[in-house]
Amino acid sequence: MNNFKNSILFRALILALTLMPSVITLLYAPAPTIHINLLFHRVTDNNPEQWDITPAKFRSITEKYLEHYKPLNPEDFEESFEKLPEEPDWRQLKEWRNLRKSRVMFMFDDASKEQKEAIKWLYETHKIKSTLFVVLDWIGKDNFMPIEDILDLQNNYGTRIELHGKRHDSNPELLKAGVNLGEELEAARQDLSKMIGKEVSWYAYPYGHHNDAVIEEIKSKTSFERAFTVESFSVDTNQDPMQTPRIMYLENEKGFSGTFALWQRPPTYLFIGLFALTSTLPFFIALLMFRRMDKKVHKKKKQNGL
Ligand SMILES: [Zn+2]
Repeated sequence: MNNFKNSILFRALILALTLMPSVITLLYAPAPTIHINLLFHRVTDNNPEQWDITPAKFRSITEKYLEHYKPLNPEDFEESFEKLPEEPDWRQLKEWRNLRKSRVMFMFDDASKEQKEAIKWLYETHKIKSTLFVVLDWIGKDNFMPIEDILDLQNNYGTRIELHGKRHDSNPELLKAGVNLGEELEAARQDLSKMIGKEVSWYAYPYGHHNDAVIEEIKSKTSFERAFTVESFSVDTNQDPMQTPRIMYLENEKGFSGTFALWQRPPTYLFIGLFALTSTLPFFIALLMFRRMDKKVHKKKKQNGL
């Protein structure tokens, strides 16, 4: 028995038992679900501005995200959080973890012609449906998509068409200038709904600009159910639906590299596992010390002939 107690096997057994809680935590602790909306402007090689992106970079960023995030289609957005099971089903752990996987939605503002190929590529290569926010007065003008292109994206590439304003002006400024913003937006919402044959229910603030007065105007005078800002947060069910955040792609922007690169962050359950590991280690060390003391007592007993 003494031999076994001093054997490597026994020590390994004790070590395994001590580390078990952390290993279990590491494997089974629920990873929190992060939901992010990514916002892009023009996807082009032709003199990209700071808020534009080249097609090559767009593809590589998308693929990096898909390693860690599950693409969520816009029609599943509203119920996606309600469906989320909090408690793991131990018999279907893999399915449960897949449900808990973080999600990403792809959004495009302005409906410029340089967005069409990127939206098609997302759908054809990755079966991802995008959301396109359209400025009513810009449809078919200059470098913006004609209604035929917008309908093509909707009908053949699963794109959700929503409103980005009648005009692309800062909403707080319009209110200040005395414009009846609610009325203007509700009329634009109804016009766009007729053009695409579907009820428009989402709105994206031009430049992301909004304030309490703008939100109140939209809530009281329009039928929009949700409005999107440009803020580098993840989506949270406790947020006001009229301030749903989107992370905007900005080249060489500090905020971008910090928040946009969320995919690089190790999952939180890893931290929980590491925490469990560090908290069980002292226990293990205490155990070793106790064994040493035990040995010393044994030795003394032997020396004393007991
Ligand atoms: Zn815009």
